[in-house]
Amino acid sequence: MIGISGPVFRPGDDGYDGERLGYNLALDQRPALVVGARAAADVAAAVRHAAGAGLGVAVQATGHGISAPTDGHLVVDTSRMRGVTVDPVRRTVLVEAGVRWHEVLGAVAPHGLAPLSGSNPEVGVVGYTLGGGIGLLGRRYGYAADRVRRMTVVTADGQLREVSAEREPDLFWGLRGGKDNLGIVVAMELDLVPVARIFGGGLYFPGESAAEVLHAYAAWTETVPEEMSSSIQLIQYPELPVLPEPLRGRFVAHVRIAWCGATAAAEPWVRPLRALGPTLLDTLREMPVTETGSIHHEPPMPVAAYDRNTALRELAPGAVDTLLELAGPQAEAPVILEIRHHGGAYARMPEVPNAVGGRDAAFMVFSTFIMPPATLPDLREVHATLHDKIAPWGTGGSFVNFLGIDDATPDRVRACYAPADYRRLAALKASYDPANLFRVNYNIPPAGAAS
Ligand SMILES: Cc1cc2nc3c(=O)[nH]c(=O)nc-3n(C[C@H](O)[C@H](O)[C@H](O)COP(=O)(O)OP(=O)(O)OC[C@H]3O[C@@H](n4cnc5c(N)ncnc54)[C@H](O)[C@@H]3O)c2cc1C
Repeated sequence: MIGISGPVFRPGDDGYDGERLGYNLALDQRPALVVGARAAADVAAAVRHAAGAGLGVAVQATGHGISAPTDGHLVVDTSRMRGVTVDPVRRTVLVEAGVRWHEVLGAVAPHGLAPLSGSNPEVGVVGYTLGGGIGLLGRRYGYAADRVRRMTVVTADGQLREVSAEREPDLFWGLRGGKDNLGIVVAMELDLVPVARIFGGGLYFPGESAAEVLHAYAAWTETVPEEMSSSIQLIQYPELPVLPEPLRGRFVAHVRIAWCGATAAAEPWVRPLRALGPTLLDTLREMPVTETGSIHHEPPMPVAAYDRNTALRELAPGAVDTLLELAGPQAEAPVILEIRHHGGAYARMPEVPNAVGGRDAAFMVFSTFIMPPATLPDLREVHATLHDKIAPWGTGGSFVNFLGIDDATPDRVRACYAPADYRRLAALKASYDPANLFRVNYNIPPAGAAS
């Protein structure tokens, strides 16, 4: 293809399947064209080609966050763009679009610095950050998007733009939260935080104590300082030899923590959790930031996942009982439930405001499950019931990074933003992408367009 240095794949080409599929296999996507971009100029040429050919444009780095089906559209695959440049003096890292978190962790850790990475080090830096980025140190340092310094972006007109608080400030505001609705980011500079080691890991309680542990966890979160970020997962582990022996085939309440204060100061906060009873496994320890990807214990291999999420105002006892009824050990439901503690720095708008939503949330409830064995109709029903029943404790919102394959609808996307921010994003979309070229995503239609 003219002007593109990287490979281009069409249905039937060798390598097409490897390019079109990523981590989440829930959609069997069949794009018309996949452009394996090697450089910013490739991204710009691909965008111009799509506009000329009447194709919608999707962007994929790792496939962890699939949204709307890419069938018949053009996919820009950024996975070949892997540059990472650390500036230890300014405490920043500059990444290209295809970089994954483990690459940044490895590059910045020798300087005693950390990024605001999330639970899984295989996730892409740029996609994660443009959706907010709910990280392991988030209650102390906020969303990853709050620490973006500048970006280079290709907009729908095929132009390459430098964007920061000073240059194109409206676009800078909207990209941070609006994901790929306003353009494809080819490079991003992020501020790092001075954290070399953290105290973290997991306490894996047996299913018998799930109710007591979940109620105690909810109460405990009301007492902890911002240095403590945490979550809890309720999961029925399969009988798999790759799992640690004590967890195989067991229902587990897994409390995960990441404490970024002095290790000695973590002890009083951890004691009440450990006192909740015998654990199947206790992996809490001081660790270098390069090992923080172990805390959530997530599957490394591609899976077909069905996801939904709800932002909560509070985790009141009634909410805990509801979640236990629908996802606890007795429910025997196709639900893996995760509750992440928000508040702290998440609630504060950064110095240079952005479009990230959910600042009013005290928690996120995320439900997921893997297909097969579960079927899509079953998952739709069970997860819809769960999120409907938890809604009385909700903010009415949800988090764009944790949407799933059923969420690429105008209402579900709108719910991820404060109403005024959504209107501003739609107005920006009308000005930067009036034809909605970037529509193969959690779409924000241009203001004035029928939705
Ligand atoms: C196992 C797992 C763990 C996760 N943990 C966390 C977590 O702890 N915190 C959190 O906040 N999220 C988390 N996520 C969600 C994740 O951040 C989002 O799915 C994110 O979109 C993934 O980005 P990606 O590039 O890896 O995925 P992809 O599927 O390749 O991209 C997903 C989307 O990101 C956007 N995007 C990617 N690259 C660009 C680009 N260059 N320019 C513009 N937009 C782009 C696009 O909207 C694209 O559709 C997790 C997801 C999984 C599957």
